[in-house]
Amino acid sequence: MKNIIFIAPPAAGKGTQSKLVSDAYNIPHISTGDLLREEANKETELGKKIKEDMESGNLVSDTIITTLLKNRITQKDCQEGYILDGYPRNITQAKTYEELLKQLNYDKGIVIFFDIDKELALQRTLSRIICSNCGSSYNLLVEDLKPKKENICDRCEHELKTRNDDTEEVFIHRFDTYMDNTKELIDYYEKKGLLHKIEVGHKSATEIFEEVKKVLND
Ligand code: AMP
Repeated sequence: MKNIIFIAPPAAGKGTQSKLVSDAYNIPHISTGDLLREEANKETELGKKIKEDMESGNLVSDTIITTLLKNRITQKDCQEGYILDGYPRNITQAKTYEELLKQLNYDKGIVIFFDIDKELALQRTLSRIICSNCGSSYNLLVEDLKPKKENICDRCEHELKTRNDDTEEVFIHRFDTYMDNTKELIDYYEKKGLLHKIEVGHKSATEIFEEVKKVLND
């Protein structure tokens, strides 16, 4: 069973690698942010509570997130494994998750940390362009993520644009906040011997994926 946790600062290529791993190993990509948004859209008491927490920028309570996660990872499509994205966010969640895995008789799992230098992550963020029509994402700094024709989407031939929220100031704040919140978690998994670090550097998405596969096939 391949139950995988992806830890990656903004612009490290987590979205691309999640898709590659999900397709190659036929396992779902589970984003706790998406799980919560889905539940928040329901007109239930639980949905309302989640919506309030998310809108105020707070983390959703561990009890709620653990219940939703348990429901999700016990579904049929997770029996061969899954990729967790956005969870655990802190050590309390990491410990709760460990207990949950034991309870379900699941493997201890693999943690992959995509390590990227802040300056490079910034350059990659500023080089990101998306399709105004279908939302496909490209990156002018990553060889195999460039569009085939300049400024034109490979999939639907619409125009490509930069994202409005990809400014330097916003990026630096997001990156620093992410690293401050995650440092402890990275140390925790490193001490447990579960952490695999992949240096992103100037590698292509394919090269990174080769490294991910090596970790997963060991
Ligand atoms: P994300 O899409 O990962 O940026 O998450 C969006 C929001 O969902 C966060 O700001 C939190 O309010 C909530 N959230 C996502 N993952 C978690 C988690 N593991 N624990 C608690 N709250 C979470």
